[in-house]
Amino acid sequence: MTLRVGIIGAGPSGLAQLRAFESARQKGAAIPEILCFEKQSDWGGQWNNSWRIGLDGHGEPVHSSMYRHLWSNGPKECLEFADYSFDEHFGRPISSFPPREVLFDYIKGRVEKSDVRKYVRFNTVARHTSYDESTQEFTVTVEDLKTGLTETHVFDKLVVSTGHFHVPAVPEFKGIKTFPGEVLHAHDFRGAERFYGKRLLMVGSSYSAEDIGMQAHKMGAASITMSYRTNPMGYHWPDTTVERPLVTHFQGSTAYFSDGTQDDFDAVVLCTGYQHKYPFLPSELSLKSPNVLYPGNLYKGVVWQQNTNLFYLGAQDQYYTFNMFDAQAWFARDVMTGTIELPPIAEREADIQVWLDRQAALPDHDAEADFQTDYLRELIDATDYPPFDLDAVSQLFKDWMHHKHTDILGYRDMIHRSVITGTMATKHHTRWLNAMDDSLERYLYGQSQDLDSEDPEEAVDAAETLASR
Ligand code: FAD
Ligand code: NAP
Ligand code: MG
Repeated sequence: MTLRVGIIGAGPSGLAQLRAFESARQKGAAIPEILCFEKQSDWGGQWNNSWRIGLDGHGEPVHSSMYRHLWSNGPKECLEFADYSFDEHFGRPISSFPPREVLFDYIKGRVEKSDVRKYVRFNTVARHTSYDESTQEFTVTVEDLKTGLTETHVFDKLVVSTGHFHVPAVPEFKGIKTFPGEVLHAHDFRGAERFYGKRLLMVGSSYSAEDIGMQAHKMGAASITMSYRTNPMGYHWPDTTVERPLVTHFQGSTAYFSDGTQDDFDAVVLCTGYQHKYPFLPSELSLKSPNVLYPGNLYKGVVWQQNTNLFYLGAQDQYYTFNMFDAQAWFARDVMTGTIELPPIAEREADIQVWLDRQAALPDHDAEADFQTDYLRELIDATDYPPFDLDAVSQLFKDWMHHKHTDILGYRDMIHRSVITGTMATKHHTRWLNAMDDSLERYLYGQSQDLDSEDPEEAVDAAETLASR
């Protein structure tokens, strides 16, 4: 009987799984019966963002945490698909840090070319899953959000690719309930225009705090305070921005910090990260993990230890993104089809432990980049995913982190060389700090220049214009 494969989620990870099977089909392999459920009306996951906050039009939690004016925060050369280059998609070199819409276009380009849309049931949310040990089958209950009807589907293999940056982790602070201004989590942040002239408090010291904070600076916020729990980020911030240790409590609009200082704020953004949450899975199949580079209980970061018919893609914290999901999807495919034979459980456990021990001893960010590089290397060695110079990518990550420490407002203006095609990125027509139009048209064709300007004073005017729209 043909193998039946279910995939939950059509973001970059789920699409990588579709692409992995398509690539095998093109090489003449028989491929399984595939069905992918996507609760949104289009694919792309986080990159398919929405203006909505809270619930979508079907009453489902809004998935994407992305926002207006989100530009890639790592060099695109670090995430490039090995089988679909930026050159192939855009037909010419582009800059290293494109805005969201441009990367969304790139993700879509590869899957449109592969003709895999037919496998995806859109507007269909996975609600419940059970596994029958005797038949070794998963039964997945889904709801068609348009008709409201539920259906069940039976699979031999199940791929979970629903992401883990969409269910906010929200801490409690004494007095926050009566803070008179706006309080939101980064998941609900949609753009910094409304922070023009405002005093902003950000809680958290990772990518969201950095990026939302600097976007608020770009959009003319009066001041930005970043409050850290463990370590400050330590960048050379602009004059508007300071870092403080953790806020202890609020009284009215005043926040009190653990170093005894206090300040008044107009708004608070909780950039406190996300939870792994799989409400459609029974607890024994559900990954519980903080946001780390190597969650436990997954062999090669992919195969569920106690049930090797279950696969997770993209469950890691991410230096690498699209190409890592590919490496994982190719590996998962080969395990599903039996091309890769799994070792016994104890051997798998020992392998996981080696990675967990190494993870526990990682001294710094450079070592983290090397760690994830070695992880990809292992996966790519095991399959026919096109190999590429992983050490060169690891060096790109280190250069990027160095650039951030040199110039937090300017690192996105740097250019890098593709390890896939050797193409050098082009310098973008507008510096990130002055780029007020993040559309694909403006990015590629330089249209609607009214908002972008190389003149810093004009850029401030543009921020004011955006805020008043
Ligand atoms: P997701 O992109 O989250 O996709 C999961 C999909 O599953 C979604 O389409 C969702 O609708 C669907 N889904 C969820 N639950 C169900 C269900 N029950 N039933 C059916 N479908 C379901 N990466 C970069 O490389 N560069 C960046 O600049 C960058 N910026 C980021 C900015 C933000 C704010 C965030 C949160 C992430 C960013 N990332 C970035 C990382 C991002 O997580 C990855 O690029 C990528 O989107 C992860 O892909 P995924 O498919 O694993 O998950
Ligand atoms: P994250 O990297 O998981 O970081 C969570 C942060 O919240 C950490 O600094 C953590 O501090 C802090 N935190 C957690 N609980 C806290 C508490 N109770 N009190 C105070 N601080 C607390 O999450 P993220 O920054 O949201 O990033 C998620 C993903 O989105 C990443 O993949 C990132 O690349 C992506 N992203 C990209 C962009 C872009 O520009 N393209 C923008 C935003 C996000 P500790 O260090 O103390 O644990
Ligand atoms: Mg190989």
